[in-house]
Amino acid sequence: MAVREIDFEQGPIRPPSEAYSLLLRLTRNCPWNRCLFCPVYKKRKFSRRSLEEIKADLEAMALAAEKIGDMSRQSGFGGRVNREVAALVHAKHPHIFQIAFWLLHGGERVFLQDGDSLLLPTDQLVEVLKLLKEKFPTVNRVTTYARSRTLLRRSVQELEKLKKAGLNRIHVGLESGSDRVLEFMKKGVTGDQHVEAGRRVKEAGLSLSEYVLLGLGGTDLWEEHARDTARVINEINPDFIRMRTLTIRPGSPLADEVREGNFKPLGDDEIVREEELFLENLAGIDSYIYSDHILNLLEDVQGQLPEDKEAIMAVVQGYLSLPEKERDLFKLGRRSGCLRSPQDLQKQSERDGLEQLYRRLQVQGISVDQYLEQQLLQFI
Ligand code: SF4
Repeated sequence: MAVREIDFEQGPIRPPSEAYSLLLRLTRNCPWNRCLFCPVYKKRKFSRRSLEEIKADLEAMALAAEKIGDMSRQSGFGGRVNREVAALVHAKHPHIFQIAFWLLHGGERVFLQDGDSLLLPTDQLVEVLKLLKEKFPTVNRVTTYARSRTLLRRSVQELEKLKKAGLNRIHVGLESGSDRVLEFMKKGVTGDQHVEAGRRVKEAGLSLSEYVLLGLGGTDLWEEHARDTARVINEINPDFIRMRTLTIRPGSPLADEVREGNFKPLGDDEIVREEELFLENLAGIDSYIYSDHILNLLEDVQGQLPEDKEAIMAVVQGYLSLPEKERDLFKLGRRSGCLRSPQDLQKQSERDGLEQLYRRLQVQGISVDQYLEQQLLQFI
């Protein structure tokens, strides 16, 4: 069979922690699609994929894996997928490179796309998980996104069934625990519903990642956002708390709210103050915190609760106690990708370049925050 015939469908996003996962698309886009801050699926219609379509994708992916194995053998690598084989696939058959990349990284993890896979009937999901394991016996971790509202439509027994069939982890966009923030942002869920959904996932024995969106309260609700989000997270005690930072894309519904004066975004330093309040209020849980996104200012906010809480707070407080110019230099360095933590400001070579940029902005009368706003949009 000609390799060109190998065809499968994949959606636009996955969590950063799924960078090495095979992306298997079960639904297209998001069934809710109303959150003001979310640009991902706007103007795209939601649809469920049939079991036949998903099966056909799995078969095509398995065929691609076979083809890649043949290429490896022909190149003298005995069927193993190493960097040389992956490069060969990239050069000759780029449409199946994703499979080679996945195999290169172990071929063990799978992420079910798109925004809310649990909307599919449980029996269909069980069937997909079975087929997935049949086609790729090396798979040992399967994860997916799910909305809290959708999780509330699944009983603990149904979730247990999914776990038994091979689902390991659910990623939930909690964003905020404040009902006022959730309502304003049109998230379509309340803090209490987030709690109930999260607890159900945990009760079923599935691993749970909750995503918190820093900055979502804006200048009016930042304190409530920080405190209520911590309260809701404390009630859930998820396995992972993953932080993201709000960015507002021009033309998005939230940008319209900003233009009309209904939402006033926080600056970087204010977001870190909000983050401090959120972290301070986390209590009685043993979650692991990650700040694993390029848009987060402080990526060192990471560790196991409760034992690492002091160290985590020290990262945030250390930043806030820096003189204003140091904070500005760090922001410039972090956003341009040359610094990872405020300690990196000690590197003279990096510092010299940042000082130059800082002076140039001063001469041009552009504030660091204005400059960074433009830079941040490039990462979205
Ligand atoms: S539910 Fe998730 S994917 Fe859907 S619009 Fe909201 S944030 Fe975006």
